Amino acid sequence: MNVPPTSPIAVVTGASSGIGEATARQLAAAGFHVVVGARRLDRLERIAAEIGGTALELDVTDPESVAAFSAAVPRVEVLVNNAGGALGVEPVAESELETWRWMYEVNVLGTLSVTKTLLPALIASGNGRVVNIGSIAAREPYRGGAGYNAAKHAVSALTRVLRIEMMGEPVRVTQIDPGMAETEFSVIRFSGDAARAASVYDGMVPLTAEDVAEAIVFAVTRPPHVNIDTMLIMPTDQVAAQVIHRR
Ligand code: NDP
Repeated sequence: MNVPPTSPIAVVTGASSGIGEATARQLAAAGFHVVVGARRLDRLERIAAEIGGTALELDVTDPESVAAFSAAVPRVEVLVNNAGGALGVEPVAESELETWRWMYEVNVLGTLSVTKTLLPALIASGNGRVVNIGSIAAREPYRGGAGYNAAKHAVSALTRVLRIEMMGEPVRVTQIDPGMAETEFSVIRFSGDAARAASVYDGMVPLTAEDVAEAIVFAVTRPPHVNIDTMLIMPTDQVAAQVIHRR
């Protein structure tokens, strides 16, 4: 990896689309050398070429992939744990263990695995920042949300414990909780049903990936004595998980 010694390095997981891609672009514009990780390497390579960053294949649910990814990162100041998502909206009574397992693995164990592996380098940087992407679902249970609620609530617990454990170390820990943002999120949630995914945003104005990325960049560019603890960002048309103004 050819990085000028003066450029701080930021790692963004799940950077092949949506919030992760927008964050990678904005961090690069803010002066970071950005290492973009996800499973779809073709997309990552295109993004990395555009922002002067580095593309590395990464499956956050696979410890060997996380180890290989982390070994290729020479140093790191900022880690954005963004890889994640939801599958399905089944009620608890009809939940599939497999969809819950997928959500737990990517959102929770994925965040743990990457964080744990990069933590020594974040501490060694002298000015580490970890940003976990939670959700309104990390705060508010909603009908059909149990599996995703459970996973994102677990991310919140992980964020809060890590912040306590990093007290006194040069690592700040932030969680950004977005409400509805139009990305590939709903397409994944509805297993590729694009029409159903689009209907989620019928008659309302959702957040864009860029809106959320701006908050992430704000958090990681505060001076070292300031920690943005948590931030909830909602579209104006959404006041609670399932309370949405539609025209
Ligand atoms: P997208 O589906 O557009 O992006 C998800 C990203 O995660 C993709 O880059 C995908 O890349 C990556 N990813 C998925 N699984 C893995 C894996 N096993 N290993 C590595 N990367 C993986 O959705 P968003 O941008 O919206 O989602 C980003 C984060 O924001 C998620 O944590 C999501 O839960 C959260 N969020 C989203 C909201 C929304 O309304 N959009 C609201 C609240 C939170 P690839 O498939 O190439 O691996």
